[in-house]
Amino acid sequence: MHLVDTHCHINMMVKKDFDRVLTEQELVAAGGIVEQAHTQNVRTIINVGTSLIESKNCVEIARRYKSCYATIGIHPNDATEQWMDDLKELQHLACRKQELNIVGIGECGIDKHYPEYNLRRQKDVFKAQIELALEHDLGLVIHTRDAGDETLTCLEEFAHESSLRGTIHCFSEDLDFAHQAIAMGFVLGLGGTITYPKNVELRDVAQRVKLDDIILETDAPFLPPQPMRGQPNHPRHIAYIAEYLADLRSVSVEEIALQTTINVQRIFGVPREGR
Ligand SMILES: [Zn+2]
Repeated sequence: MHLVDTHCHINMMVKKDFDRVLTEQELVAAGGIVEQAHTQNVRTIINVGTSLIESKNCVEIARRYKSCYATIGIHPNDATEQWMDDLKELQHLACRKQELNIVGIGECGIDKHYPEYNLRRQKDVFKAQIELALEHDLGLVIHTRDAGDETLTCLEEFAHESSLRGTIHCFSEDLDFAHQAIAMGFVLGLGGTITYPKNVELRDVAQRVKLDDIILETDAPFLPPQPMRGQPNHPRHIAYIAEYLADLRSVSVEEIALQTTINVQRIFGVPREGR
């Protein structure tokens, strides 16, 4: 069985602070996490960038460890006044996507959760990254929080582009949003939150969309599945999420593993047998 964690932050699991280059020791610790994930059949891990420095950390992990890939991007909450300079550097990295094992752009999107958000800037940074993904034929990792309408409106501007595709990371919207996103080439990134008791509507969506439209993610070290709450999340918990989704949909875990891995290949071009 081959499982993929499509959204992980090993770079944040091995250090407590943000926006700092990983030390040698931390890079070695990242290798240990990769090994632990392997023991649970999680053979491919995509580490997702949130800022220029963290994107470079993800690229460095992908350079060292064969089962790891990177996405590069600017999280809406990390968009500073200097975002255009950062974007230029991301463009240079995207030009070298093959050798650097970069498979996507993001996480990017709109986040209106924290009161001091700058919506205008968030939209500019988001759209620039959609353009970057299209230019380099890369999948998008979309972060949307309390901003479903704004996120869809930004994506709709590019809906005519045939290479538009990606994942709605940590999907938490309703069935209508799901259908609109899927129609534009997106899949739903499902993880620990489908196991939380209060998320009844989310489980309903997870049952009703086609298995072709789902990929699995942990968002480790954040959002651990219900039985692991209170401890940092880990990419190995993809195995638990796959089992949980199999139960929910009354199919075998092998079927979940196979189809979601096929979907990851379609969205991010990650080879099914790894590299
Ligand atoms: Zn994340």
